[in-house]
Amino acid sequence: MKYKTLLILLIFSLILSGCGDKEPLRHTEPIRKRQELLMGTLVEISIADEDKDATEIDLAIDKAFKEIKRIEDLLSPYNKDSEISRINRLGEREAITVSDETFSLIKRSIEFSRISEGAFDITVAPLLELWGFSIDPSAGSPVIPSEEEVKTKLSLVGWDRIITHDRSRSIAFSRAGMKIDLAAIAKGYAVDRAIEALRGEGITRAIVDAGGDIYCLGAKSETEPWVIGIKDPRRPNEILNTLDIIDRAIVTSGDYERYFIVEGKRYSHIIDPRTGYPVQNKVMSVTILAPGCLEADALATAVFVMGEEKGAEFIDQFDSVEVIIKTLDE
Ligand code: AMP
Ligand code: MG
Repeated sequence: MKYKTLLILLIFSLILSGCGDKEPLRHTEPIRKRQELLMGTLVEISIADEDKDATEIDLAIDKAFKEIKRIEDLLSPYNKDSEISRINRLGEREAITVSDETFSLIKRSIEFSRISEGAFDITVAPLLELWGFSIDPSAGSPVIPSEEEVKTKLSLVGWDRIITHDRSRSIAFSRAGMKIDLAAIAKGYAVDRAIEALRGEGITRAIVDAGGDIYCLGAKSETEPWVIGIKDPRRPNEILNTLDIIDRAIVTSGDYERYFIVEGKRYSHIIDPRTGYPVQNKVMSVTILAPGCLEADALATAVFVMGEEKGAEFIDQFDSVEVIIKTLDE
C-alpha cells in the first residue's frame, strides 16, 4: 500500500473520526433499486431521494436504463449494425464517417493510449479474439495460442494506426484486419450518461453500478455517504474494505472478472498491448476514484497493464484521481 492509497485511507479515517461524536441518522426511506443485464454485465441503479415518489423514481430509472441500452447498441461489437462493427469491417485506409459520440469516444481512447504510453489500447481487439476473451458467445472457450499466432495478431495492434479526421468525423485503419473494442471504457461512459439522465429527472441521490463501474451521485442521505466495498480479488463475494463516496466515480478492473487457468497459471482478460499476452505483473485489481466514470474506467485498465509502481506514479499526475492497487504480494 503506498502513495495515494495511503492518502485516501488517511482522508477517509479523518472524515470518519470527524463524524465520530455525532450519532449518524439512519436512512429511513427505502432505497428503490432495479437491475438489468446490459453491456454484458448486471447493471444496478439505486435511488435514495426522499422527496420523490415511487412513480417519479421509476420514470428516472427507466430513462437511465434506456440511455445505457442506447449506448450498448451503438458500441457493441456483437451487434452487426453498430458503428463499432462497421468500423471493424474496414479494409486498409478505407474510411467511414461515424456519429459525434463514437468519434469522440475513439478520440478519447486514443488520448488515454497516448498518456499511458500504449498500456490502454482499444486496438487489442484481434488479440482478445485470439485469446477467446471476446465476449461474443459464439467465439468459443479460451485457448492458449501459439507464439506465432500472437505475433501475427500483434502486428494489427497499435493505437497510432487509427486514422481520425476531425472535420469529416471519419475513422480508418492503416492496416487491413485491424479492429477496436471499447469494452475498457464503454461501461464507464454509459454510467456517466445514465447519471446525466437521472440528474435530468431531478434525482440527487443515486448509485449506478455497471458490474464494478460505479458512480455515486450525491450522498445516500444528509448524514450518510454512499458506502462502496472493494472486493477480495480471490474471493469476489467478499469485501476487503469499504470506502465512503459522495459525487465520485469508483471503478475496479480485476483479473477475477474474466479469466481461465491452465497448469496453475491465470490468464485474465486484460491484455498487454505491447506483448500480446494477458497481463502477468502480480496486479489482481486496480480501483480508481475519479470525478467521472469514463476516466476512472480507462485509467483502471491502464494501471492494471502498467503494474503497481509505474501505475501509481502515472496516477500521481492527476489532481483528483486516487488509486488502490491489490497485488499478489499483499
Ligand atoms: P476493464 O474491465 O474496464 O479493465 O476492461 C477490460 C476489457 O477491455 C477486456 O475484457 C477487453 O475487452 C478490453 N481490453 C483488454 N485489454 C485491454 C487494453 N490493454 N486496453 C484496452 N482495452 C483492453
Ligand atoms: Mg476499464
